Amino acid sequence: MHQWGYCINRWLKRSLPGYCAFCLAPALAGGGWCATCLGELPWNLQPCHQCADPVSHGASLCGHCLIEPPAFSTTQAGLLYQEPIKQLVHDFKFQASPRAGTLLAELMLLTPPMTQGDALLSVPMTATHARARGFNQSYWLAERLSRQLGVPVVTAKRVKDSASQRTLNRRQRAANLAGAFVIESPLPAHVVIVDDVVTTGSTGHALARAALDAGASRVDIWSAARTPLGKD
Ligand SMILES: [Zn+2]
Ligand SMILES: [Zn+2]
Repeated sequence: MHQWGYCINRWLKRSLPGYCAFCLAPALAGGGWCATCLGELPWNLQPCHQCADPVSHGASLCGHCLIEPPAFSTTQAGLLYQEPIKQLVHDFKFQASPRAGTLLAELMLLTPPMTQGDALLSVPMTATHARARGFNQSYWLAERLSRQLGVPVVTAKRVKDSASQRTLNRRQRAANLAGAFVIESPLPAHVVIVDDVVTTGSTGHALARAALDAGASRVDIWSAARTPLGKD
């Protein structure tokens, strides 16, 4: 019984404002975290300018972006996809926790892209994911950020329900996603794709390609976190 009480208490605190989402100490005024936890988050301190994969000190681009530049110009991902961000993304994505979503949006606003762009573009889900999960985390974040920044959200259609990307390598992912997205609404010149986590950048590349085809002249990516790949 004691254990149960502890779990419920912890869960309640997690879902209420006023407590740090990571250690449950009182949060900083107006934020979802305490100063110690904010400082200890896995910040992405040495990212590739274009895809945000961590690079060795001093380099501005990773080997992949040097050899095969993606269709998007830059990626802003302030954090690495490691604990406790992993748990936060999991709570948001699979348990539809609005508090986790709000925290991710707040963390994104702490590390915004250099230029804001004229519109935010959310990543459409596959029909299978949409049926299973029922909510699109990318659209949710784009809407939230759009309200804060005063820029509109534009959406794309997913016309190809490609197989799961999980087991594929970078090249296979790119081939799997070619032609997967279509944008029918007119686009402004500078579009920023919003997502919770960037994994290989293949989705961003395919969606950026579609946005350029639909009339945008520049596409950037803005995500909460980046999965560090090293070599992939
Ligand atoms: Zn804390
Ligand atoms: Zn790169």
